[in-house]
Amino acid sequence: MTAVIAIVSVSDKTGILDLAKGLNKLGVRILASGGTARTIREANFPVDDISAITKAPEILGGRVKTLHPGVHGGLLARDIASDERDLAEQNIQKIDFCICNLYPFEEAAAKNNVTIDEAVEEIDIGGVTLLRAAAKNHARVTVVVSSNQYHDFLSELESKGEISQTTREKYALKAFEHTAAYDKAISDFFRRKYASSGEGMQHLSLRYGTNPHQKPASAFTRGEPLPFKVLSGAAGYINLLDALNAWGLVKELRAALDVPAAASFKHVSPAGAAIGVPLHDAERKVYMVDDIEGLENSALAQAYARARGADRMSSFGDMIALSDICDVPTAKIISREVSDGIIAPGYDSQALDILRKKKAGRYLVLQMDPEHEPAELQEVRTVRGISMSQHRNDAKISPKDTFNAIMTQKEKYKDGQALPESAMRDLTVATIALKYTQSNSVCYALNGQVIGLGAGQQSRIHCTRLAGDKADNWWMRFHERSLNLKWKKGTKRPEKSNAIDLLCSGLVPEEGIEREDWEKNFEEVPRIFSQEERREWLKQLKDVAVSSDAFFPFIDNVFRAARSGATYVAAPTGSQNDQAVFETAEKLGITFVEQYVRLFHH
Ligand code: 5GP
Repeated sequence: MTAVIAIVSVSDKTGILDLAKGLNKLGVRILASGGTARTIREANFPVDDISAITKAPEILGGRVKTLHPGVHGGLLARDIASDERDLAEQNIQKIDFCICNLYPFEEAAAKNNVTIDEAVEEIDIGGVTLLRAAAKNHARVTVVVSSNQYHDFLSELESKGEISQTTREKYALKAFEHTAAYDKAISDFFRRKYASSGEGMQHLSLRYGTNPHQKPASAFTRGEPLPFKVLSGAAGYINLLDALNAWGLVKELRAALDVPAAASFKHVSPAGAAIGVPLHDAERKVYMVDDIEGLENSALAQAYARARGADRMSSFGDMIALSDICDVPTAKIISREVSDGIIAPGYDSQALDILRKKKAGRYLVLQMDPEHEPAELQEVRTVRGISMSQHRNDAKISPKDTFNAIMTQKEKYKDGQALPESAMRDLTVATIALKYTQSNSVCYALNGQVIGLGAGQQSRIHCTRLAGDKADNWWMRFHERSLNLKWKKGTKRPEKSNAIDLLCSGLVPEEGIEREDWEKNFEEVPRIFSQEERREWLKQLKDVAVSSDAFFPFIDNVFRAARSGATYVAAPTGSQNDQAVFETAEKLGITFVEQYVRLFHH
């Protein structure tokens, strides 16, 4: 009978003597690499050097120890006649067990000030080859990569006289994972060293993670360059989350409606998003852009004015995305707002100069490759050490693809009449915005822009209310009184936005220091809106398009949307209450459009 052979080559020698003792007891011949053999021999257990079968010494200071057909032929040979013949011709013996762990590359690479040369020496070659060969041939060979496995391995061998197929499969997977993690550690190290600047940059160090104590933090790509360049400033983790989501939104909006688009993001949801629909006088005033030169000739600036103007309070300190090259009027709007950064496919040189001056040069300016499409269809995220993967949400939202059947007001559309173009446009804006908004989410849109968005609420009605309240607030800003506020000299733009928000949301207190704090912004303190005034003005809000990222479970959502001028509502169907929802919409004169794709986003 031929001997059972184990090849043993371990960098971490933990438990190796117990293993050697066990293998010897079971009559297994041990072949070991230099240091491993020495350790076993010193403990007086029988062991042979690898050279006993290779007839070749270790060379290059240990760089070549086990790389030899005598070893790899012995590991890779199958129980088939042609392999047996090859082995016999070359006088090679089959190897049954491979016990190997790798040079500690990760620890070496993590050391402060480690040099490239030092790290290179910690790249295991032969060990990875041993593991891969043994794991590949797990139909016959057992591979062990960790001292934690020694006990179970020896027990099974002792009790059954062999290692079962199930165990070999489990151990092979462990070996494949081990080499994959090892290669990942090596490529991560060299990505940081060789691809963290210049052309082909793949690694970007971030200032910190979600919070300042979450360090280090980075963004990286595997196998392809990052699709954006940092033209100015330094990105944080949330900046990048915002930028990449906002970019997706504007790119999709531009493609769907063929008009320049802009988004203003905060905390990974849009505060506003819009396409470049020309602004009328009141809008220019409400959005605080009435003095921007060239605005009327720039659809992009109009888009950003709308995105930023939708909810000025929420947009404070935003991350901006533009679908088109940033021009001077757009840069001018941005230059005087409090903002954290911008992503766009390019910048006119004068526009870039303007942006680079913001925040004393710390304003984050990213240039995105407009052609870039993620190569990976699977997206992976890790939560508490668990990786979860899913197909990327590549559902296409467009007026043509997304809105299915009209479920109510069928009389109006019975002769094949389509929804007005403006309604389709606004439903598209609202729905694309939702695709990039933390769920649950509901969005109200009008004039090609978001006017109210409820994000991240656990209950749908709370989204519908929140978004509706924001839409009301937006509309109250167009009331004559809001348009003609007399500000005290020196009142800053964010202070104005906060004071307007308090006035328009009907939350100004009757008295007390909060009231005094609010009043101090004005040269002439405005009268607060009475219930009656609010009711009358809000009645005039019409033609609003509302979209929901999932179905309405109850009719209360339709009631609430109607109160803020909803004329069109799009939502997925599938609720037990669908019929009741349609009936309610019918009664309220709302056209309910089925939107076939659910758009949760987290
Ligand atoms: P030893 O301490 O026995 O001299 O070396 C054990 C280590 O060498 C193990 O971590 C094993 O993965 C690694 N090793 C085995 N064969 C080779 C080889 O041919 N080249 C290199 N660079 N490392 C090897």
